[in-house]
Amino acid sequence: MPLPKKPKTIRRVYLDHAAATPVDPKIKKVMLPFFDTTFGNPSALYSAGVQAKKAVDAARKDCANILHAQPDTIVFTSGGTESTNLAITGVATAHKKNHIITTDVEHAAVLEPIKKLEQAGYKVTYLPVDKAGRVRVADLKKALTKKTVLVSVMYANNEIGTIQPIADIGRALLRWRKQHNTAFPYFHSDACQAGLSLRLDVEKLHVDLLSINGSKLYGPKGVGLLYKRRGVTLDPQILGGGQEMGYRSGTENVAGIVGLATAMQLAHKEQKKYIKHVSSVRNYFWRALQKHVQHISLVGPDIAGDDRLINNVNVTFHGVDAEALIIYLDAYGIMCASGAACATGHDTGSHVLRACGVDNDDTASSIRFTLGKHTTKKDIDYVVKYLPGIVQELQKHSN
Ligand SMILES: *Cc1c(COP(=O)(O)O)cnc(C)c1O
Repeated sequence: MPLPKKPKTIRRVYLDHAAATPVDPKIKKVMLPFFDTTFGNPSALYSAGVQAKKAVDAARKDCANILHAQPDTIVFTSGGTESTNLAITGVATAHKKNHIITTDVEHAAVLEPIKKLEQAGYKVTYLPVDKAGRVRVADLKKALTKKTVLVSVMYANNEIGTIQPIADIGRALLRWRKQHNTAFPYFHSDACQAGLSLRLDVEKLHVDLLSINGSKLYGPKGVGLLYKRRGVTLDPQILGGGQEMGYRSGTENVAGIVGLATAMQLAHKEQKKYIKHVSSVRNYFWRALQKHVQHISLVGPDIAGDDRLINNVNVTFHGVDAEALIIYLDAYGIMCASGAACATGHDTGSHVLRACGVDNDDTASSIRFTLGKHTTKKDIDYVVKYLPGIVQELQKHSN
């Protein structure tokens, strides 16, 4: 059987919202004046600068409110990667303790700075995960020592959507610190995938540091924040004019910061609606896949479980080369990813799938579909019209 015949008009179906979301028009509109009308440097003394500073201050307050924190705990950065680097390297180098605990399934933005510290002599414990990608609090407790300076566990996984028990970990760390009469270890969580469907209340999560970016929240790329609890000390990584309370020098990305704050507010406001809509379309998608495609299996937590992001479907198409499938799907207008978008080009397979015990053969056969607030059942119908035939064709050729 040949590949399915392409339709006359290709429908564009974007299913890679874990890599990037389109900027919401409401957010874009709020950002635009800061490119030209109010372009002043927030450090300047004349009114155009003062206006820009006011906008940054208001954004800081808005972000703090969403996180249930104080404005002076918010450090604006150039995105998720800078936030995680500031948290990890900043904390590790500021204190005389040399042990870090993290997990096998973190994003490269966490694993790479930790690897660099490891090369510089730090001891690192990588917590294993179960088949669903979850760490166990008991494993974390066993790994803690008086030398542990930082624990870094992601809130939700970008590849398979696993939600980690952050509040439970936070509580365990609070108890440990109390028992040992110490402020350490600090607890950092990479929350870059969490903001649309999970709550970001730093008090309820018991985190000391939290990394967030705009580009996964229908906001702009290249902007993020690090929440840093009062009293937590770290070394700045970018030195200069002393902006962001000295934690991150460089002229503020005013439009981006305003966009990030608006994105966080909008995500908060729309959260219920988002969850209801996206989980319904996601369930519809997974049912259709099971019905129409042979030899597939779900990777990660149960599809409708509480520990899976509601927009994530990661599927192994047994016997299919995932990258080939992505390229074929693209020809039909369907956009999705294998593993992490940021790890393409590596041929060792996904470290996340390996950590979950997925067979070597299958790590190269897994595709991540991540839905968004505009994804419709019509989009899914279109995908399910073409995907099974393409998969069948590729499965045939793999034998
Ligand atoms: C996207 C992402 C990052 C990196 O964010 P950037 O804004 O691209 O630097 C870090 N961690 C997770 C979990 C992500 O999904």
